[in-house]
Amino acid sequence: MSPLFPDLSRPAPPDRPALRFGDRGLTYAELAAAAGALAPRLREAGRVAVWATPTLETAVGVVAALLAGVPAVPLNPKSGDSELGHIVKDSAPTLILTAPGTELPAALRDLARVEIDATPGGGAPYTVGDVPDIAPALIVYTSGTTGPPKGAVIPRRAIATTLDALADAWQWTADDVLVHALPLFHVHGLILGVLGPLRRGGSVRHLGRFGTEGVARELTAGATMLFGVPTMYHRVAEALPGDPELAKALARARLLVSGSAALPVHDHERIAAATGRRVIERYGMTETLMNTSVRADGEPRAGTVGVPLPGVELRLVEDDGTPLTADDGESVGEIQVRGPNLFTEYLNRPDATAAAFTADGWFRTGDMAVRDPDGYVRIVGRKATDLIKSGGYKIGAGEIENALLEHPAVREAAVTGEPDPDLGERVVAWIVPADPGARPSPEELAAHVAARLAPHKRPRTVHYLGSLPRNDMGKIMKRALKTDD
Ligand code: ATP
Ligand code: MG
Repeated sequence: MSPLFPDLSRPAPPDRPALRFGDRGLTYAELAAAAGALAPRLREAGRVAVWATPTLETAVGVVAALLAGVPAVPLNPKSGDSELGHIVKDSAPTLILTAPGTELPAALRDLARVEIDATPGGGAPYTVGDVPDIAPALIVYTSGTTGPPKGAVIPRRAIATTLDALADAWQWTADDVLVHALPLFHVHGLILGVLGPLRRGGSVRHLGRFGTEGVARELTAGATMLFGVPTMYHRVAEALPGDPELAKALARARLLVSGSAALPVHDHERIAAATGRRVIERYGMTETLMNTSVRADGEPRAGTVGVPLPGVELRLVEDDGTPLTADDGESVGEIQVRGPNLFTEYLNRPDATAAAFTADGWFRTGDMAVRDPDGYVRIVGRKATDLIKSGGYKIGAGEIENALLEHPAVREAAVTGEPDPDLGERVVAWIVPADPGARPSPEELAAHVAARLAPHKRPRTVHYLGSLPRNDMGKIMKRALKTDD
């Protein structure tokens, strides 16, 4: 691992494009100068917040903080005042970095502000001082899918090792050009999407907001990789039948990667059928960065997140903490991981941190999975929301959701468990019909699932909704599911 991170002097030639957001971009030399101009001002700050709009400024601000060796807290500009107020109180930044002219919400107006100049010219490259590997680089708040977001303290070492492990798994090089359309306040968009290409010496083209036209345009113009969340691949799958240019563009890509939530098998298969390309899935979390991935040189397979990345130890454990010994593709256990990719703690939450680790340092992910005999991990769902204990069986929500999504009258599907006097819990399906005027009946959906999976996995109750509650990464917020009427 390079002791200097990011080392912006390595890529050659220095006029190689580093970042482009819309029609504004910086070469490596320009980025080094812009971030280098800002870094000395941050050196004395204990911790800085970054108003993380999808802009060149955000990328420059985060790189400057890394150069200065001060931890950065990326803030979601779409968060409400109460969430921002909580995060700022929790993480206590001494100043906030914004693009020039940004109007900040009330909760942030008392913070000292420094505007980021991301225009080329001026500034001198700045070399990282002696910052220890385990020093915090970023404090990233979890997505809040299962509870209020927690601030994960991510050391420099975790970022460098995860990016190098992905380089190995994906054969990711300086020649790669990434199409990016994700927000910059989570691991996926910021660490993988911005710091990843910078660590390789490659480049990023950010679309500002996701659209299939932008993806097609950039891939046709020579971009090699696309990173997306499942809702983006769903939109791609929906658009493909009417868009031969998009199909051609995707077929040219070296790598299509999905993560942050499970990619429905139905969307994976539709994209493969229309483009001849298989999306590869990787699995990670704020606390651990990346844990597993299908490898670029491995066999892609729908519905799996691949194998542990180099350096990551992974095991499945039973409820009582006993590690599973059989990789039989059937025994379900909680995923626990250990390795240099891990966070150090939840900020100000010593109890939550202690509860998250076993005595011998394994992190409890809260995700349940099975492992195939060849080592491929298949996620069944989250322990808290996706594991239904019904009639003596442990049923994963994911495979039922996948089966429901194969029904032509179903657009979106989420599966949960509800208490049931006979079964303990019963399977409940939340359905967004493709055509609200033509709802598939509960009996029809139950029969559809029973024909694909075991009969005990069929939904016993079906609720129909206009849309599913999702967060800004497109993750289904199961705790917010409630009936429309
Ligand atoms: P919170 O921890 O606040 O409830 P969160 O867990 O959604 O929110 P993140 O750290 O952003 O916050 O997300 C990590 C989770 O996302 C993982 O624990 C896992 O459940 C899910 N995930 C990520 N990648 C995949 C994938 N490829 N397949 C299935 N699930 C995934
Ligand atoms: Mg989580």
